[in-house]
Amino acid sequence: MKKRLLLHICCAPDATVAIEELADDYDTAGFFYNPNIYPGTEYDKRLDSAINLAAASDLVLKVGQYDAARWFEAVTGLEAEPEKGLRCDTCFRMRMEETARTAMGEGFEIIATVLTTSPHKNAEKINSIGQEIAYEHGLEYLSTDLKKKDGFPRSVQLSRELNLYRQNYCGCIFSKTRE
Ligand code: SF4
Repeated sequence: MKKRLLLHICCAPDATVAIEELADDYDTAGFFYNPNIYPGTEYDKRLDSAINLAAASDLVLKVGQYDAARWFEAVTGLEAEPEKGLRCDTCFRMRMEETARTAMGEGFEIIATVLTTSPHKNAEKINSIGQEIAYEHGLEYLSTDLKKKDGFPRSVQLSRELNLYRQNYCGCIFSKTRE
């Protein structure tokens, strides 16, 4: 029997390659939990796109709460941090913690994230945070570096083919104002 994997999805384009690579090896469900996304209209666009991808891929998609106030509270004092800095670590941690809590509550054994598709993200750092959180919750963590083996251009191609919305900033208000 395949192990149950809860795959954190930050956006549809980044999830395309992960679904292609992992969905057959595991009993996979997606988890959209991204309270970092600003503004709410952008959140809705990314969520709609993830729902469309899940439908096209026959993937169960779970949707977490859009608790933006909690996210802002978590990154208070880190507003001026550059991308890949401490604010991003906190942001990854918050999203992976919610993924782990949901996985535990719903009987998943493994967690992973599609965040490593982006060439702008440090996969080593993301995997290290993910491993730590999975360990704390008694779960397995699946390390990935989805941008490797042309994963990123493949995600661009698949997004085009599936007509998925592609954003031009990471997600939070601080990344938007530095576009
Ligand atoms: S830049 Fe991206 S990863 Fe970093 S805090 Fe903002 S939304 Fe989160």
